[in-house]
Amino acid sequence: MKPKNKFQQKVIEASKKLPPLTAAQIRWANTKVLNAVGRRTTKGDITCLDCGEVFHNTTKQKRCICPHCGTKLSIEDTRKRTFKQCRYALYITTCDGLQVIRIFMVDYYAKIGTAPRYYQTEVMQRWIAPNGKYCTLARSRVWGTMYYDSWIYSSDLELHNETWVYDQIYADDIYPHIKLIPKLKQHGCKKVLRGINPTRMFIALLMDNRAETLIKMGQTELLRIYLNSGSKFNTYWPAIRIATRNGYFIKDATLWCDYIDALQELGKDIHNPKFVCPQNLREEHDRYIDKRNRHRIEKRIAEQQAKLHESEEAYRQAKAPFFGLSFADEIIHVHVLESVREFFLEGETMHHCVFSNGYYKKDDSLILSATINGKRIETIEVSISQLQIIQCRGACNKETKYHNRIIDLVNRNMPLIQKRIAA
Ligand SMILES: [Zn+2]
Repeated sequence: MKPKNKFQQKVIEASKKLPPLTAAQIRWANTKVLNAVGRRTTKGDITCLDCGEVFHNTTKQKRCICPHCGTKLSIEDTRKRTFKQCRYALYITTCDGLQVIRIFMVDYYAKIGTAPRYYQTEVMQRWIAPNGKYCTLARSRVWGTMYYDSWIYSSDLELHNETWVYDQIYADDIYPHIKLIPKLKQHGCKKVLRGINPTRMFIALLMDNRAETLIKMGQTELLRIYLNSGSKFNTYWPAIRIATRNGYFIKDATLWCDYIDALQELGKDIHNPKFVCPQNLREEHDRYIDKRNRHRIEKRIAEQQAKLHESEEAYRQAKAPFFGLSFADEIIHVHVLESVREFFLEGETMHHCVFSNGYYKKDDSLILSATINGKRIETIEVSISQLQIIQCRGACNKETKYHNRIIDLVNRNMPLIQKRIAA
């Protein structure tokens, strides 16, 4: 694509001035970005795939240091003779008053017995002006592929428009010495946050005063959530402002946002510092998440009220002979579910289908709940005619570590169930 405006023209010119990578920058990519491998034979001979030397090591450790070149190696026990890797490496610098993010593809090819080969190919440059305007220079990619990595190395770095594609291409492997334009420094930027596309972060810091505010307050975790969550973050802004005004520092941003979500769902006033600035966040978070979960269950019970009500009497008539039946060992307590409402709570807390599939309507099934100190552990279905356990499941239908113990306990007490049938 030909440059369409002065900014793009300036970028094309500036791009020609970017220096090649220094020896130190290349060494960093080869050793820190790529995963250096030590290939071990069954005899314990390790070939260092960084320097090619061989040494002996039979420890059980997964990593070791090459005694010849000092590189940290991860040991692979394999007969494989060739090794390939490719990874992105980012270099952040400035040029002609513009912020630049240079993205290189580092290719590595090693064959046992020959010296390993490394190649660094610059595949992309992102250019950002102090006013937030930006553009992308990139090599061509193979058409018709979903892989963003299929670069055509022989093509030229040219202006490209498909921003959404290039926005996907970044990595946390950023050369530690970064250069920033003065405007970014003024806006509070010191480094790039892990897991965030640096281009996105720089543009936000230049153009969006919310991003700038967050970083200047030292709320980098909140900034990360902001950049990753988009418009959902709007709900947190009033609360963040109140926290700031009250000199409250949000230490664990994820936990705090989660807590604010719960407050909101419970209809609490998230403009009230009493709620927004808890002394003990962890404690209040757990308390309100618990409240919120109970609130959700109550809400669903209310929605199901009619259905519950009409089944309740039928269940009572069918299973009343078993009501009050319970038994226990030293830690596990087992009892018969005595209402459809209890089926509902069992299904909600255990995330399985004991309620939704209408087990309370099954004539031949007796449903029991195994608990420890009142906490539900597993749900048991017993066939009344066969006096046999049909299934026994924990939360999300998984077995718990008490599974066999519960089965054993129920089987030992099967005569108690039998007695109720006879009566
Ligand atoms: Zn070595």
